[in-house]
Amino acid sequence: MAANDHLYNCYSPPEMEFVRGEGAYLYTEDGDKYLDFIAGIAVNGLGHGHPAMVKAVKEQAEKLWHLSNMFRTKGQYTLSEKYCAATFADKVFFTNSGAEAVECAIKTARRCQFVEGHEDRFEILTLQGAFHGRTMATINAGGNPKYLEGFGPAMPGFTSLPFGDLEIIKESISDKTAAILLEPVQGEGGVRALDTKFLKDVRDLCDEHGLLLIYDEVQCGAGRTGKLFAHQWANGNADPDIMAVAKGMGGGFPMGACLATERAAAGMVVGTHGSTYGGNPMAMAAANAAFDELTKPELMDNVNKMSNFLMQQFEGLKQAHPEVVEDVRGKGLLCGMKLKKKALDVRNLARTHNLLVGNAGDNVLRMAPPLIISEDHVREAIAILDQVFTEAKAMDDFDG
Ligand SMILES: *Cc1c(COP(=O)(O)O)cnc(C)c1O
Repeated sequence: MAANDHLYNCYSPPEMEFVRGEGAYLYTEDGDKYLDFIAGIAVNGLGHGHPAMVKAVKEQAEKLWHLSNMFRTKGQYTLSEKYCAATFADKVFFTNSGAEAVECAIKTARRCQFVEGHEDRFEILTLQGAFHGRTMATINAGGNPKYLEGFGPAMPGFTSLPFGDLEIIKESISDKTAAILLEPVQGEGGVRALDTKFLKDVRDLCDEHGLLLIYDEVQCGAGRTGKLFAHQWANGNADPDIMAVAKGMGGGFPMGACLATERAAAGMVVGTHGSTYGGNPMAMAAANAAFDELTKPELMDNVNKMSNFLMQQFEGLKQAHPEVVEDVRGKGLLCGMKLKKKALDVRNLARTHNLLVGNAGDNVLRMAPPLIISEDHVREAIAILDQVFTEAKAMDDFDG
């Protein structure tokens, strides 16, 4: 019987099993070493076994694990204060995952319209290629037909529009529209970044029509693009009203948050929402430690330096392997290449060369390495990819 026979067959992991991680490397029981350029899908931003994270969680484990929100949790106060000082937000709701953070964002937007006297405004406009999670509401928000099939009737209140087309968004706004929800950089959708001009235009549109702007920065936040949040590249000109965050925020500890302005959160009063585990002491200890590391200017400098270097190297790979690489894309250390060969097969081939990368929609080979990587790590990854692309030339071309 295979080791995973009693697990849902929702995943098909490879044979090897990792037992330990250190920095940008993962190790198997036999001591085989892999360079981790996907970091638990943009989660382990500080790498594996970061001393500050280990210390914070160990210390908390000896004090208190869980309380529920029936009682005050000090870590929630310190962490919410930090995030509000560093962003547009005034209020925070802590969750256990990204999907729950997006759920909270959707509920917050609708409640805001409701308490402002617009109970008919419940529709959320979203973008094609989006990924917002796997709960019932977030698969409907994401709109990917593959994730909706077989799960009952489509939930009303979500309209998926072509990626990056402002005119179509404009035309789609009606007296039912409550909010626009988008990822400043789509992760699962193929590492596609929206430019800051587009974000500003959407912001203006929301102001003009009384809509709430919701960002899903679950993947592109937490320092991934070289600023704490990707939309901050717009220098305060494209701030949202509500934002979902998770993944890198906990540095590997499962947690997330929904951030909102005072106005947007006004409807979320006692009894409207809740979570048993959300904001629990262990998660807060991890996320407080992660925040303190993620907001060190040296770390963001490193992200910007390494991503420039990595993108340059990707361009080199594209020139050296025109039969394999179609384009280079992404922002910061959420980046990759659209391939002419099947990205999933190329990802698996890289694994046989001890490099862990991901894939994403639109046939993209996706990378989200720890933010702490050095030039040596980039060189090592590029040398492996060079070899992998050489071997991939023999593969059949990707045909959609
Ligand atoms: C991963 C992801 C989610 C869902 O997060 P989970 O923690 O898996 O629920 C939502 N939105 C985006 C953009 C993501 O990348």
